[in-house]
Amino acid sequence: MKGFETRAIRTQQDRSQNREHSAPIYMTSSYVFDDAEQARSLFAEETSGPIYSRYSNPNTDEFIEKLCALEGTEDGFATASGMAAMFTSLAAFLSAGDHLVASKSIFGSTHQVITKILPRWGIEYTYVDCSDKQAWKRAIQPNTKMLYCESPSNPGLEILDLEFLGTLARNHSLLFNVDNCFATPYLQNPAEYGAHLVTHSATKFIDGQGRSLGGAVLGSKEHIATVRGFARQTGPAMSPFNAWLLSKSLETLAVRMDRHCQNALETARYLENRPEVSWVSYPGLPSHPGFELAKKQMRLGGGLVAFELAGGLESGRRFLDSLGMISLSANLGDTRTIATHPASTTHSKLKPEERAEVGISDGLVRISLGLESLEDILEDLDQALTRSSS
Ligand SMILES: *Cc1c(COP(=O)(O)O)cnc(C)c1O
Repeated sequence: MKGFETRAIRTQQDRSQNREHSAPIYMTSSYVFDDAEQARSLFAEETSGPIYSRYSNPNTDEFIEKLCALEGTEDGFATASGMAAMFTSLAAFLSAGDHLVASKSIFGSTHQVITKILPRWGIEYTYVDCSDKQAWKRAIQPNTKMLYCESPSNPGLEILDLEFLGTLARNHSLLFNVDNCFATPYLQNPAEYGAHLVTHSATKFIDGQGRSLGGAVLGSKEHIATVRGFARQTGPAMSPFNAWLLSKSLETLAVRMDRHCQNALETARYLENRPEVSWVSYPGLPSHPGFELAKKQMRLGGGLVAFELAGGLESGRRFLDSLGMISLSANLGDTRTIATHPASTTHSKLKPEERAEVGISDGLVRISLGLESLEDILEDLDQALTRSSS
């Protein structure tokens, strides 16, 4: 199946004896064996099939098969949340004494895992500026095992050069791990540029409707065997219900992303012309420093827009408090447009100087464009911007 949409819709488990058209939900924790020999060969992984839902189940199998068909990877493991996927992708490969090189601009909880949790187990890290190629090279040490990044980054929407990082990883025999949550497999496939591990929070655009948590780690058969070995024992598994829901969501990912991106581009253009806004960051605008790179490695500019209110913290607060329809929420990638203020929410655990380091200023607002009518989104932004500066 060639087309993205066809792969997203027609990748499905075999029909049961009930001849269902849409995949059923397998709400069962374990599966029965025909005989002792079948049990032995399933546990020995000589044959494949469901054993116990902490390992896999038909719904997570379908979700993973579909994601692999969309990302161009061989195998994967579905997790209960995006953070379970991020943590699994790190903990399955890194040991005491190993070193990780990561871009500075990453999701708040991933930052906490890298700087607070992994060091307790003797895993060191070096942070580098997203686009400073020399810094990425300099940061590699004899004990470096992995390069880690997000592109577009959260929340500043910086674009990292995936081809450069993939080549750097290959030249130094390092694992290259990319959190592809913001782009989704529709906009960008990091495995094409040499990513060994592609991690997702399915909670965001993949679910797309703000209903459930989920995540996935994708990669080669060999790397996912390591991930699966770790995850089967430690238990970050996705529930069959969430896997069913998220597999259904993937069926509409392409049409939803097209509209998210269109609304985001129009909103970014609108914000660029507002006097209350000092700058706008959107990878699909020529004013974005990563515009050319985004054109090369992404299909469209994505569903998020970041901007800075000229009036700083005080205008930021007034702006958020003036919004009517647009939700104040800690999520993104929903049908509903959401505004967030990273300095007081997702990145509030960072000290102000740490926030400045990762490019989060007091007036930074991030908008996740939903699927409402563009005119209603712009009308709400218009009145909130006017009040923010009065
Ligand atoms: C939300 C998010 C995560 C974490 O995912 P959860 O599903 O909330 O655990 C990781 N990375 C990025 C970029 C995210 O936006």
